[in-house]
Amino acid sequence: MADRINVTRSSMPPFEEYVEEIKPIWESRWLTNAGEKHQKLQAELCDLLQVPHMELFSNGHQALEAAFSIFPAGSEVITTPFTFASTTLAITRAGLIPVFCDIEPDFYTLDPEKIEPLITEKTVAIAPVHVYGNLCQWRKIEEIAKKHNLKVVYDAAHAFGVRDGDVSAACLGDISMFSFHATKVFHTIEGGALAYHDDGLAKYFAAFRQFGMFDGVQSEILGTNAKLTEFAAAMGLCNLRHLDEQIDLRRRVFERYHERLDGKHGMVLCGKQAGVVPNYAYFPVRIVPEAFGLTRDQVCDRLAEQNIFARKYFFPLTSQFPAIKGYCDTQDTPVAEKVTQEILCLPMYADLSMADVDRICDVLLHKE
Ligand SMILES: *Cc1c(COP(=O)(O)O)cnc(C)c1O
Repeated sequence: MADRINVTRSSMPPFEEYVEEIKPIWESRWLTNAGEKHQKLQAELCDLLQVPHMELFSNGHQALEAAFSIFPAGSEVITTPFTFASTTLAITRAGLIPVFCDIEPDFYTLDPEKIEPLITEKTVAIAPVHVYGNLCQWRKIEEIAKKHNLKVVYDAAHAFGVRDGDVSAACLGDISMFSFHATKVFHTIEGGALAYHDDGLAKYFAAFRQFGMFDGVQSEILGTNAKLTEFAAAMGLCNLRHLDEQIDLRRRVFERYHERLDGKHGMVLCGKQAGVVPNYAYFPVRIVPEAFGLTRDQVCDRLAEQNIFARKYFFPLTSQFPAIKGYCDTQDTPVAEKVTQEILCLPMYADLSMADVDRICDVLLHKE
């Protein structure tokens, strides 16, 4: 049996580089609580992503919970069901009601044309997701938000380093959440951040992360413990130095897949977004069963038989999760329902070899 290929594989800096980075931690004994590495990473990220403020967290999900905690409980948030569990759970755990809006069929992000009918007097925010690093139609979304006096909180977990021309994804909307999980384009093993514009929120987010304490003595808000450790921040500092190489290696994988799979009957690839600088985070394909002759599930099983593990991502829709059903009205999202049945993310990581990409494509294209 040929070697196992997983859907993803974490990027690692050279071992010695990490050891060098963590040495000072042995001397200082400052292991967590916004130490030197944390502060350095925060500053470097603000600089790289060109955003005025960033607050670091133990993971992206905690960052998202912090973001949604600024709204009064019982308010409604218009969001997409075609996302990872985290987006919907963060809204619901903050005591808010997710109102599911459909996606558009090209890049799988929130469909701006379908937002306005869902706005009620209880709506406080729109929470779109830059799915696979595809940017949402942010101009239209933010125009609607402005007109109705709503905040925009992006789940930008997939969009690290993505730009629309000169505009960094981190600068869009009011708040953007980034995940630095081990499987993301840039990681700190576990970690995450909020990028935002309002400097009035800096103290609030720092307190939320630290048991809701502004003064270190008593909890003034119902915060949590969501601090990024110095070891995680050190991993981030190392990985940042190699980010450009890593994205370039991903680009090679992306281009090879495109060469082999573009235009194949029954297979729909994501197009390029005009003017957008991508990060090649994922390689989603849609298997249209009527045209391809096999369903997505059959294709996924065939790959698995050959020791290749693609991922049904995102499937199912978060609006179908048992944990969520009791918290929302069911909304009609026909495009999302179709896409979730057809989507498959192929293995994508920086050191995936061209030979392995070819092996994956050979299995995909051989249907007998
Ligand atoms: C990874 C991810 C998250 C959660 O981030 P963690 O750092 O794993 O908590 C949220 N939303 C999306 C879309 C993600 O892919």
